[in-house]
Amino acid sequence: MKKVVKFGGSSLASAEQFVKVGNIIHEDEDRKFVVPSAPGKRFDEDTKVTDMLYACYALAERDHSFNAEMAQIEKRYQEIIDGLKIDLDLSTEFDKIIDNFKKKEGPNYAASRGEYLNGIIMAKYLGYEFVDPVEAIRFNEAGVFDAEMTQKLLSKRLENVERAVIPGFYGAMEDGKVVTFSRGGSDITGSIVAKAIQADVYENWTDVSGFLIADPHIIDNPESIDTITYGELRELSYMGATVLHEDAIFPVRKEGIPINIRNTNRPDDEGTWIVGHTCKKAKYTITGIAGKKGFASVSIEKDMMNSEVGFGRKVLQVFEEYDISFEHMPSGIDTLSVMVHQSEFADKEQNILSGINKAVSPDSIEIQSDLALIAVVGRCMKSQRGTAARIFAALSHANVNVRMIDQGSSEQNIIIGVENEDFETAIKAVYTIFVDTRI
Ligand code: ASP
Repeated sequence: MKKVVKFGGSSLASAEQFVKVGNIIHEDEDRKFVVPSAPGKRFDEDTKVTDMLYACYALAERDHSFNAEMAQIEKRYQEIIDGLKIDLDLSTEFDKIIDNFKKKEGPNYAASRGEYLNGIIMAKYLGYEFVDPVEAIRFNEAGVFDAEMTQKLLSKRLENVERAVIPGFYGAMEDGKVVTFSRGGSDITGSIVAKAIQADVYENWTDVSGFLIADPHIIDNPESIDTITYGELRELSYMGATVLHEDAIFPVRKEGIPINIRNTNRPDDEGTWIVGHTCKKAKYTITGIAGKKGFASVSIEKDMMNSEVGFGRKVLQVFEEYDISFEHMPSGIDTLSVMVHQSEFADKEQNILSGINKAVSPDSIEIQSDLALIAVVGRCMKSQRGTAARIFAALSHANVNVRMIDQGSSEQNIIIGVENEDFETAIKAVYTIFVDTRI
């Protein structure tokens, strides 16, 4: 068996955390490929090393002195090295980094050093080979991740490697220029490595024991999810459930490699299993609830719209011209609404309205702002009678006015639009009706 184990920033924030991680790795022979993040927060008001690096580079870019800030970063690593009592000197690495900051290598390069240095420490601590992702995780000239080339290069690079540490979060273009994924992107690296070595499991170690049914900021002590499918997870993470980067599913999904979310601070917890298919029924009809605030809808009305071929395309083309992606598009016979992110839409609003007027000459256009979208997700909803009825009854009893309803064609989610101010109440009502009543 081969396992890829990715450890998040809080799991590697101090020497003490490194020791926990070392124990977890040594406990299981199969944990052969390790993907570390940069040191994260040691306590609530602490700063992640990635953020320290961005701030430090911002000074370098403006030709300001950054000695004090860099010294703080060096101190974070030195404390880990001292705490682990390993024989490692990072001073030449820091000289090189300082030099490259002065040469203005770019913010991507700067941020990537967090994972790079943590990878060097981890490899030394474990006695594993260090593999720099610059060699094998490839981005194209436009800075977009090149999955195909990466698979080729990385599987070849790791072919005869027994055990290795591969830092998360970054790769490089063909010319060696470093590119990072978006924030939290070490999750993606873990998934890419799992695919490249055809791992049996991708373990993602963090500071919670898996996914929760709903956001703990809204629901007190929500129950956790033991098994979830990639499809369900995709819906939930797209709608704001954090824990795993939303793009981390893609590399392993096709390969059918399961992801196991685990807690470094509670290693005996089973965590959440993310799988392709499962015969396991979820404990409740719904698997999870997630949502986001800050949407606007543009509702268009025109008599006989239904029979006007190309109407929808013409409307969407206007949004495309202004580079606005749409989230949902519920339609009636003579009406059509386009839901968009309010923050993206606001600046271009008047241009888009006049574009729609020109393109389809509607009878009326109405804009609603400050909407929230809530996704109620569950693979078991499809075969369960009355799920929608229960959701909407619960919302009505909680005095929540529903502004939009959309059921995904996979029938594993129901999206509900409500006013921003009803967001928390709506989530509580749905959670209560399914989880607290245990059905
Ligand atoms: N260190 C990076 C961040 O803070 C990437 C990661 O931790 O996954 O976003």
